[in-house]
Amino acid sequence: MKRFLLLFAAGLLACSTAVAQRLPQGASPDHYALTVNINFPTNSYEGDETIDLKLSKPSNTITLNAVEIDFHEVTVTAGGQTQTARVSSDGKNEMATFTVDKPIPAGPAKLHIKFTGHLNDKLRGFYLSSYKGRKYEVSQMESTDARVAFPCFDEPDYKATFDISAIVDKGDIAISNGKVVSDTPGPGDKHTIKFSTSPKMSSYLVALSVGDWKCASDSVDGIALNVCTVPGKENETRFALDATKAILHYYNNYYAIKYPLPKLDQIAVPDFQAGAMENWGAIIYRETALLIDDKTSSVGAKQEVADTIAHEVAHQWFGDLVTMKWWDDIWLNEGFATWMTPHPVAQWKPEWLEGQDVVVGVSRSLGVDSVENIRPIHQAAENRGEIENLFDGIAYGKTAAVLHMLESYLGHDAFRAGVNLYLKEHAYGNATASDFWDAMARSSKQPIDKIMPTFVMQPGAPFVGVEAKCEGGNTTLNLSQKRYLETPQAFNQPNDQIWQIPVCAKGVNETSAGPQQCFLLTERQQQFTLKGCSKFVFPNSNALGYYRFDYDAAALHQLGNAVDTVLTPEERIALLGDEWALMRIGKHTVGDYLALGDQLKNTPGTALVEEFSRRLGFIADYMVTDADKPAFEAWVRRTFSPRMQQLGFTARSTDTPADKQNRADLFRVLGNIGNDPEVIQQAKLLVQQYMKDTTSVDPTLAGAVVSVAARNGDAELYKQYRAELQKVKSPQVYYRFFNGLAGFPQEALIKQTLESTLTPEVRGQDLFILVGMLRNPSSQKAAWDFMRQNFDQLMKKTGGGLGGVGVFLYGAEGFCSAPQATEVKQFFEQHPFPGTERNQKEVIESINGCVELRDQQRSNLAAWLQQNGNANASNSGGNSSPASAAR
Ligand SMILES: [Zn+2]
Repeated sequence: MKRFLLLFAAGLLACSTAVAQRLPQGASPDHYALTVNINFPTNSYEGDETIDLKLSKPSNTITLNAVEIDFHEVTVTAGGQTQTARVSSDGKNEMATFTVDKPIPAGPAKLHIKFTGHLNDKLRGFYLSSYKGRKYEVSQMESTDARVAFPCFDEPDYKATFDISAIVDKGDIAISNGKVVSDTPGPGDKHTIKFSTSPKMSSYLVALSVGDWKCASDSVDGIALNVCTVPGKENETRFALDATKAILHYYNNYYAIKYPLPKLDQIAVPDFQAGAMENWGAIIYRETALLIDDKTSSVGAKQEVADTIAHEVAHQWFGDLVTMKWWDDIWLNEGFATWMTPHPVAQWKPEWLEGQDVVVGVSRSLGVDSVENIRPIHQAAENRGEIENLFDGIAYGKTAAVLHMLESYLGHDAFRAGVNLYLKEHAYGNATASDFWDAMARSSKQPIDKIMPTFVMQPGAPFVGVEAKCEGGNTTLNLSQKRYLETPQAFNQPNDQIWQIPVCAKGVNETSAGPQQCFLLTERQQQFTLKGCSKFVFPNSNALGYYRFDYDAAALHQLGNAVDTVLTPEERIALLGDEWALMRIGKHTVGDYLALGDQLKNTPGTALVEEFSRRLGFIADYMVTDADKPAFEAWVRRTFSPRMQQLGFTARSTDTPADKQNRADLFRVLGNIGNDPEVIQQAKLLVQQYMKDTTSVDPTLAGAVVSVAARNGDAELYKQYRAELQKVKSPQVYYRFFNGLAGFPQEALIKQTLESTLTPEVRGQDLFILVGMLRNPSSQKAAWDFMRQNFDQLMKKTGGGLGGVGVFLYGAEGFCSAPQATEVKQFFEQHPFPGTERNQKEVIESINGCVELRDQQRSNLAAWLQQNGNANASNSGGNSSPASAAR
């Protein structure tokens, strides 16, 4: 599954409070034959299902998973005898038990079930979606919702084959895991579509989508490709087809096992909780994650779509072909799909600089991993809430980061060989964490089985201390390790954790850097020898180490501006991320951070400025006092205006994708953080042009224009945005205006936006807008009050589950005061959500950490701004020397 945007970075996808325990052992399925007759007028379907299963011992009962299913008739046939079964449902455990009078002998049996299911509005199981008055049936099973769609053994290691058939209305088509093998008229006015038998797979991968989908086709390596959507959006499918061709071809070469199905369908649906779901052979996406209108889509949107496709198609191996044995190892699915993503995309579009995004991912994962209440990668989970809770920044981001580190340590080919050994050994089966690192260790003959458990089984990330000394022509490196926690108090507490860390370092001088050398740091303190001597040792060469590092700031400053040429762009991104971490634990100051960001801001690509601006937004929102605001804004303008001037407000034919993205990023930071009058003026002009003609503004700049105009807009502009939402067809353009609504600062407009979330105007999948409003200081209080007052309605709108609670929790991470921490605590005491207790603690810890940071750095910031933020200062090129700000 691909999480939607960053909404769930801290955890939580969709969950209900129901407890779902494991099935009793004794019966296991081999094959399902499932026919579903979709009945849109009654929002229901008739199911006819035969399960071939095996009993390990004689029994009078068979128990499987089923919830919200109306059973009509259940029979069990075994040993030549058919018996009708009594059904007892256990709603609490989401199970049904079928009991017969005479014992069913051990061995094969056939279970035949007739039932009615409901097309629900909760975005799970077989559910109802709609667009322009037409109804669609869409499926979403992961993690534990196949049982909502049809009775089944709904645990990942009960793999079986599936023969699926759908009876649908005239004019509708159906898409499932298999390819269509027949489409025949009847019964009645309907037609019946039969799909080919699926490979052996887990129930959470079953897909079935019914409606008047329109599909565009292509093929690659003999595999038929379809990209499907609601009518009217067919012309936005070309990009996804091209991306899929490149990506699938790359994977067919990378993996020793080729894509095993004859076709791959991808469907963009109007209502979807996650970003996308990797059902084998039939991947389902929310529209923004798959459709691209070439005329109005930004570079970022294209990259996001390609990345999402690469993630989902990677799952066809990691997850679909080889599945984790139980959800506690969900990282074997999600971390691998996330790690794999940049590989094919970088080959297809090198100009997108995916390598920089990888380092940003590492840096952000280290951020998520720096609170005391964070979980380890491998985490026990038994019930629905606990399982859903594992789809978080740890399963995705941290795992991917650890895998990038190991790949960098072993080298691309050795890592690939290990991956392929693991896939071959467990194809069409299930695997555990140790299956993976055992295969890697055998294949590479490196101690991967020693290194990985230290990152997978324990929470947090290490902080590597570095002391370098030139001795006899070589550098003696004294490395030490300790868990990194983001407040000085927590960091300075004793901690016993030890990791086995591949540390790669290189020596750096004014004009060149030495070769990279890697060491395995296995003790609390260890000494290594780095060949040669240099002015500075950079302790995360390649920027792929999953650790925070200390560095010798004085030695770095001696290099002067050489840093921005000798270190790679990726290393500079890692360095700036680490500077923030060093500031948080009180080793450096916020002034050091600002000075380093200023020095590195011309780094080629976009990631560094994006990360820097993100932190500047934090500083502006939480650390700058009203008195210091003008000085801070002036500093922001002086820092970023020169590059903005160079790029201009209008796209040029010579622009690279990075130029376009830079222009948009600078426009946003200057307008929203620097309060730059010229940029604001431009935003007001350009947004009017854009509303008249969405091709008149460069699509990559458009999002920034809509955002800056909103923050400086009035009631009239707000009305225009609302009207645009009714007009626009392209999802990318729609969400620009939709997100823009959250930026208007006027109380009355904030109220209108909040109230709209309870109306049909805002789809349940789009309640993420509330996260933005909770994180925006101007709307924060109103949003928090509104959400608490309307908790029940909001929860209902997200299916009674935790699309909703996720919005509360993730949004509340934007708070930064002690009273707010208390309010959040009280709120969750009144609205307990079993399975999210740890997340609640994380949020409180994060709010308290923010308060501590602000208190600790505010005076440093004020002092630094006095020295560097003077609006009349002549230095406009941003050459402020880091030496002047050194601690
Ligand atoms: Zn995924």
